[in-house]
Amino acid sequence: MGFLANYHTHTFRCKHASGDAPDFARVAVAGGCKVLGFSDHTPLPDGRWQDFRMYLPEIDAYEASVRRARQEQPALTVLLGMECEYTREYGEFYRDELLGRRGYDYLIGACHLTELDGQWIGSFDRTTTPRALAAYAAICTRTMESGLFAFIAHPDIFGCCNPVWTSDTAACARDICAASVATGVPLEINGLGFRKPWLDTPDGKRPQYPWAPFWKIAAEHGVRVVLNSDAHHPQDVLANYDDVAALRDRFGLVEADLSVLTR
Ligand SMILES: [Zn+2]
Ligand SMILES: [Zn+2]
Repeated sequence: MGFLANYHTHTFRCKHASGDAPDFARVAVAGGCKVLGFSDHTPLPDGRWQDFRMYLPEIDAYEASVRRARQEQPALTVLLGMECEYTREYGEFYRDELLGRRGYDYLIGACHLTELDGQWIGSFDRTTTPRALAAYAAICTRTMESGLFAFIAHPDIFGCCNPVWTSDTAACARDICAASVATGVPLEINGLGFRKPWLDTPDGKRPQYPWAPFWKIAAEHGVRVVLNSDAHHPQDVLANYDDVAALRDRFGLVEADLSVLTR
């Protein structure tokens, strides 16, 4: 058994992926997938953080390629989305332009960057202090509270730079999970982490994320989860289903119902 639905798919436009929407859709159909959501890294109206996202003028071609995937694979429900960093100044662009005028089916909230003391730091590599972890939890919370996002991508990426679980990582996880329950925004168990180099830690080798102790806390809070592959290459469109499903089952996590997105 593999993904029947995967809501986290990129295209070459983000500069660290390959293939275009029809290439991913073809592999998804061959693997028995029924719902495929595209969620490339969104362009921002002011061109900020441009190195890992499409340029704003590429947005029409991105949408056209998703439409082409939809036409070529009538048996597949193809959704149009974006993966977005949330700050208040971009709320209008996400709400009025993407979800509004352009009719996007959904947006993913993702906190690759954390605001700490007026500076933006990488959440993957610099959430190593109690204050940075608290700031990461805070931006995840603000992202959920915006009401713009269908779920939060890889909430446990602080596992990349924290080798061991501590009371500080636990506090960060609890804050994020409590916000998820309070806002009703599910959290993603992300398959891409299994395909990245594993981390050598005092407790042994493990994926940088998903980080198991985070998901234990998520289960205790009653968080709803979304399982995705986070494909950056067509051959990965349904990859690591068994791994994310095993984590779900290990802690008895319950999947969110995202059928509302398929209208
Ligand atoms: Zn990416
Ligand atoms: Zn992604």
